[in-house]
Amino acid sequence: MSRQSLTHQLLYIHTIKSTIQNSSKLQYHPPLPSPMSPITACDVAVIGAGAAGLAAARQLRREGHNVVVFEKESQIGGIWVYNNATEPDPLGLDPTRPIIHSSLYSSLRTNLPRETMGFREYPFVAKKTGQRDPRRFPGHVEVLEYLKDYASEFGLSELVRFETEVSRVWRREGGKWEVRFRKRSGGDEDVDEDFDAVVVCNGHYTEPRIAFIPGVDRWPGKQIHSHNYRVPEPFQNKIVVLIGSSASAVDISREIASVANEVHIASWSNSNEESETLPGYDNVWLRPMIESANEDGTISFPHGFKISADIILHCTGYKYHFPFLDTQGIVTVDDNRVGPLYKHVFPPSLAPWLSFVGLPWKIAPFPQFELQCEWIAGILSGRISLPSQNEMMKDVEAFYDSLQASGVPKRYTHNMTGYQFEYNDWLATQCGAPKTEEWRKKIYDATSLNRKARPETYREEWEDEDLVLQAYQDFAKQVSCKQVS
Ligand SMILES: Cc1cc2nc3c(=O)[nH]c(=O)nc-3n(C[C@H](O)[C@H](O)[C@H](O)COP(=O)(O)OP(=O)(O)OC[C@H]3O[C@@H](n4cnc5c(N)ncnc54)[C@H](O)[C@@H]3O)c2cc1C
Repeated sequence: MSRQSLTHQLLYIHTIKSTIQNSSKLQYHPPLPSPMSPITACDVAVIGAGAAGLAAARQLRREGHNVVVFEKESQIGGIWVYNNATEPDPLGLDPTRPIIHSSLYSSLRTNLPRETMGFREYPFVAKKTGQRDPRRFPGHVEVLEYLKDYASEFGLSELVRFETEVSRVWRREGGKWEVRFRKRSGGDEDVDEDFDAVVVCNGHYTEPRIAFIPGVDRWPGKQIHSHNYRVPEPFQNKIVVLIGSSASAVDISREIASVANEVHIASWSNSNEESETLPGYDNVWLRPMIESANEDGTISFPHGFKISADIILHCTGYKYHFPFLDTQGIVTVDDNRVGPLYKHVFPPSLAPWLSFVGLPWKIAPFPQFELQCEWIAGILSGRISLPSQNEMMKDVEAFYDSLQASGVPKRYTHNMTGYQFEYNDWLATQCGAPKTEEWRKKIYDATSLNRKARPETYREEWEDEDLVLQAYQDFAKQVSCKQVS
C-alpha cells in the first residue's frame, strides 16, 4: 500500500472512530436474529459473572429466559478484576488454600487487538471519556471497563447475585437442578434453589498446572506458578528458571529480565541441542526442558549442563476445575479433557439442561462465548434443536477418535488452534446468526504471526490497517443501524 493511500485510510479510520466515540449512546446492534417469543421460558442459573457469564446472561434474557447469575466476588469481570494479593501457597497445590480468582499481572496488556477481541454485538472500540486506555492492545483495566460497559448496556448487573458462592450443583429426581449457594455476608447458611437449567461459566485460569520435575521435592529453591505472579520486583538479582512458552511466559520472562541476574526459559519447544540467548537480551537463555532439580540447588538440563538457580517459575497453564459440580460421574475432567461434551458445550445425557461456556482455548474468547450462549439460549427455548442423545454421543466419540488418530493428547481436547472460526461458523449457522466477519479472521491470523515474529513489539507495530478499516466500517454500520431504528 502506498504511503499516501495509507495516510488516507488512517484519516478515514480516525473519522469513523470519532463518529463511534462521539455517538450519544454507544450502542451496537449487528444484524443478529431479532429476539423471538420463546417457545419455552426456563429458569436458568449461570455460574460466574466473567465475560462468559455476562454473555450467557445477555443471550438467555434476550431469548426470554429468567436468569440468575451467581458470582462469588463483589463485581463483574472475572479474570479481568486485577488483584494485587496472591495465594499463600505459591504453587496452588493445597486444595484448602484461600483462592484468588484472577491470574493477571500488573503490566498485562491484551494479546489480541480490540477489534477482534470484542463481542460481535458490542465492539470493543476506544472511548474518549474519562481515564480510558485507547490503545489497540489495551491494559487490563480497559478490558474490565469494557465489560462493565457491556453489562450496563444490556442491564446485566441486575441479574447478578454478588458475593454469592455456589458450593454444589446437582440434579434432583424429577429433573430440576438444585443450586446450593452461600452469601459471603450471610453467615454459615447454605441455601438451595431450583432451576430448569444450569450454565457453567466459572473460568479456567485459576487452578495451576505444574510441570513435573524429577527431584524437585529436595531442591532447596523457591517455586511459584504464574497465577501468583504480579510484578517483577521479587525476582531482583535472582537466577530464575521459567518454564513455558505461552503468551504469559513470553511477557513475564521479558519483564523479569529487567531486574533478575539471569532468566533461563525452559520449554519443550526449545531445541534440545544448544542453548542460546534470546535476541536483544544478554541475560535470557533459551533452554530445553529441565531434566532434574537437585539437592545442591542446581537444575540439570540435557547433555550434562547445569546451573544454580534461586527460583522456578511455572508458566505452565491451568486445570479445568468444577469443585461444585456433582453429575454422579457423568461429566469428568480427565487429563484436562472435560467430557463427554457435544461441541465442547453439552454433556449428551444431560443436554440441554447442563452446559459449559468458554472451555476452548487458543481462540478469541468473547465472540465465541457469544455464539455458544446464543446456541444454548435458543436450544433451551426450543427455537433450535439438538440431535438425539445417541447422535451427540457418537459425534463426541468420533471427535475423540480423530484426536487420538492424530496423536493429539487428551489435555489438548479443548485447544482450538486452527479451527475456532469453523466452529464459530457452525454455531452461527445453528443460531441463524451471521458468520464470522472476514476481517476478524484475518486480523486474528495477522496478529498471531506478528506476535510470533515480534514478541516485544507486536502491540505497537502492525501492518493490517486495511483490515482495521474494514472492522471500523462494520462497527459504524452497526451504530447507524441503531441510530436509524
Ligand atoms: C493471563 C491471562 C491473559 C489473558 N489475555 C487475554 C486477552 O488478551 N484477550 C482475551 O480475549 N482473553 C484473554 N484471556 C482469556 C480470558 O480468560 C478470557 O478472555 C475470559 O475473560 C474468560 O472469561 P470467563 O467468564 O470464562 O472466566 P472468568 O473471567 O474467570 O470468570 C469466571 C467467574 O466465575 C466466578 N466463579 C467461579 N466459581 C464460582 C462459584 N463457585 N460461585 C460463584 N461464582 C464463581 C469467578 O469469581 C469469576 O468472576 C487471558 C487469560 C489470562 C489468564
